[in-house]
Amino acid sequence: MARYWDDDTVYTQPSAAELRRKAKESLQMARSRGRKYEPIVARTRRGEVCTSWWGQAWCRNLEKYADYASRLDRGRGYVRSGTVVDLKIHDGRVLAKVQGRRKTPYNVEIKIGRLSEESVQCIVSRCSARIDSMEKLVSGEFPEELKDIFTLEGGLFPTPREISFSCSCPDWAVMCKHVAAVMYGIGIRFDENPFYFFRLRGIDVDRFINVALESKVEQMLKNADIKSDRIIDGDSLSELFGVI
Ligand SMILES: [Zn+2]
Repeated sequence: MARYWDDDTVYTQPSAAELRRKAKESLQMARSRGRKYEPIVARTRRGEVCTSWWGQAWCRNLEKYADYASRLDRGRGYVRSGTVVDLKIHDGRVLAKVQGRRKTPYNVEIKIGRLSEESVQCIVSRCSARIDSMEKLVSGEFPEELKDIFTLEGGLFPTPREISFSCSCPDWAVMCKHVAAVMYGIGIRFDENPFYFFRLRGIDVDRFINVALESKVEQMLKNADIKSDRIIDGDSLSELFGVI
């Protein structure tokens, strides 16, 4: 069992089973007090934490930053132990409760900088241009051909300078395992509903869908015009067949 020093006191690192038990107790406590916790349930036991390509891409984006890479590692096991007992995604921030050694879960807050209006316009128009993919998108599935709206500069994925975080545990000055667990928890939430990406980056999903649908209607009308131009009238028909 691993031990570490903290404020001149020796603490014992809780095992995964212990964390699981404590997390369950915290959830029961919250329920008995009428608090609505939304826990993160990891679907994988090893390898990728997320199951969708966009959730996996979210994790890979964070892992590629050197400052995060070594610290994120601890988050995988932590989120799989069911420690993220509550995680809510709001406009530009994530509020979460993570079970640790203590009885009461720690409070984690992750803030993500707002996208510029220019970036929002760019993302919306890029999505709208790919009409065939919009139906999948509205049904809650991100088509892989829209991958660049996440990964390009100014896209939906934040860079470390756009991310700030805090945790109520004693070692939050660096990215602690609770924050790391929440980072993976966000990816799992995205698996469940990719539109959380838009909410997190401050993009109004209704506006996004409206713009996309308007664009689709315009496209359909254009197609209708093209078709009507192709309808051959009586005169051209006679020309075509040489009917006298
Ligand atoms: Zn912490």
